[in-house]
Amino acid sequence: MRTIAALCAILLGLIAMTDASAQAQPRPAPTSNVQVQPLTPPGAPAKATPRFDPLKATNAYLATVKGKARRNSDAYFEGGYWLLLVDTLYAIGVAALLLWFRISARMRDIAERWTRSRFWQVAFYVIMFVTLTTLLTFPLAVYEGFFREHAYGLSNMSFSQWLGDFLKGFGVELLFGAIVLTLIYAAIRAAGRRWWIWGWLIAMAFLVIGMVVGPVFIAPIFNKYYPLPEGPVKSEILSLARSNGIPVDNVYEFNASKQSKRISANVSGAFGTTRISMTDNLMKRASPREIYAVRGHEMGHYVLSHNAIGVTWFGIVLLIAFGSVNWGYGWLTGMFGGNWDVREIADPAGLPVAMALVTFFFLLATPVTNTITRTLEAQADIFGLNTARQPDGFATVTLKLGEYRKLDPSPLEEFVFYDHPSGRSRIFMAMRWKAQHLNDPDIKAGPVSPQ
Ligand SMILES: [Zn+2]
Repeated sequence: MRTIAALCAILLGLIAMTDASAQAQPRPAPTSNVQVQPLTPPGAPAKATPRFDPLKATNAYLATVKGKARRNSDAYFEGGYWLLLVDTLYAIGVAALLLWFRISARMRDIAERWTRSRFWQVAFYVIMFVTLTTLLTFPLAVYEGFFREHAYGLSNMSFSQWLGDFLKGFGVELLFGAIVLTLIYAAIRAAGRRWWIWGWLIAMAFLVIGMVVGPVFIAPIFNKYYPLPEGPVKSEILSLARSNGIPVDNVYEFNASKQSKRISANVSGAFGTTRISMTDNLMKRASPREIYAVRGHEMGHYVLSHNAIGVTWFGIVLLIAFGSVNWGYGWLTGMFGGNWDVREIADPAGLPVAMALVTFFFLLATPVTNTITRTLEAQADIFGLNTARQPDGFATVTLKLGEYRKLDPSPLEEFVFYDHPSGRSRIFMAMRWKAQHLNDPDIKAGPVSPQ
């Protein structure tokens, strides 16, 4: 069921605010926080020449990723724009198939034969529905999740490893899908015309439950989480955490290298389970300056309560989605319900209609959901710059994102498709910050931005 997967992806976008990736070779930064690097003259932000131009510095950084590397990342990311459309059309196609061939109606009839309880009929229907739609969308999932990732050199997984993760994901989806949808259908039967408000409340409750249990029960299904390994970087990171009111035992590392080469970190959880997790890729492949920069950013999410703010905004969008499904369902089944053998909204055989509507709604809402997360990400960027004070580390780690995120899009492209600020926006943010701090001793000590 692509829709539940899409909803999860959006939710994960909110709660797993990732950053940065592999490759790229710029500016090897000196180790640890002890900045003893002398100022190097060319283009250096020396006191005598306070003519540091943030835009020029941004362009110079962007120019360091060129040729094949740049073309690959642009192609990978732009391909993603089309996949949004392809995924939606494919999901609607699957829904149409289930409806016009009355497969959905037949699954409902089977469920009705198995039990007289309407509650359990829905549960059985949902299990059949999730299994069948997962099978039908499997070719697209293999292409997007396995072959395409390998084609761009982003995956570390063998096919059997990938399939293992896919099946685990399917199990989680089946369990949560069956519980949530069975309860929503119970609400439909109980509440009548106002079902969509109750349905939304149930969905929101599970969204929050999912966030709370996610890092404790779901994430460890896919990866190993452990305390940060001992090393020169660790104490610096923990001190930064303590100074921002983040308990040390909420800072983890996990083996993302099992899946891919991407460098990233995230904040997940809610209430008692909120935590920051760094990938092993980040800890191994980024310089200490870059690690501090990313850490500062993730601490921004934590300190600014972005999980709660993200869920609130997403909740508003989701309420509109439920309202739209309610309206669209009546309209579509009014026209085609006879052909599909699908009855009123309480009939589980109409689930493909609802799912197609949700999928289409979230395609249209892409710029809205992306702008919500992108805005929070920009806030975390600024928090990170003020906290970690590593404008150049932030710039170079942003360049490493260039492997899977186009660095320099048009403003319209960024508005529609970017769930994080683009590389250009982020590096400019860092250079703008640096321009105002040129005379601070730590910034003066370097490193020197390219000009
Ligand atoms: Zn983030």
